[in-house]
Amino acid sequence: MGVGYRYMCDWCLYFVRTSGPWEFYRDSKGNRKPYGHPVPTSEEAEKRGIQGFSGDLYCPKCDKTFDTVLVEFAGPSEGYASTWAGWNERTNELMHEERFMCPECRTTQMIWNTREAEEAVCPRCKEGILRGLAIWIA
Ligand SMILES: [Zn+2]
Ligand SMILES: [Zn+2]
Repeated sequence: MGVGYRYMCDWCLYFVRTSGPWEFYRDSKGNRKPYGHPVPTSEEAEKRGIQGFSGDLYCPKCDKTFDTVLVEFAGPSEGYASTWAGWNERTNELMHEERFMCPECRTTQMIWNTREAEEAVCPRCKEGILRGLAIWIA
């Protein structure tokens, strides 16, 4: 299940899009691939199981969106329900106190969803605040 968000500057109306969480699996070579929702996209996905969740997160410092691993499990999960239940057994080196670290500049200012803490000063006008709004659910 994923939600799409739009973060718009309340001053200059610059906006960015973020989304997630998206289920992923790893193929036999360890490559990250989309698992699909509500059903697995392929037989391979179904066999490999959900390995974790990723999201498109935005870094206001880099002014770029990154496809980021939000959580990766120690081993693949059997199905959606058990995956969500296992949310606490997460491992993610990029996660820091509920915030995500940018893979490029390493600051923990990545924004993803509409939690209060996830707002950022607009990198374009440096006046407004980027505020999130959920715009679609998949
Ligand atoms: Zn702005
Ligand atoms: Zn960055």
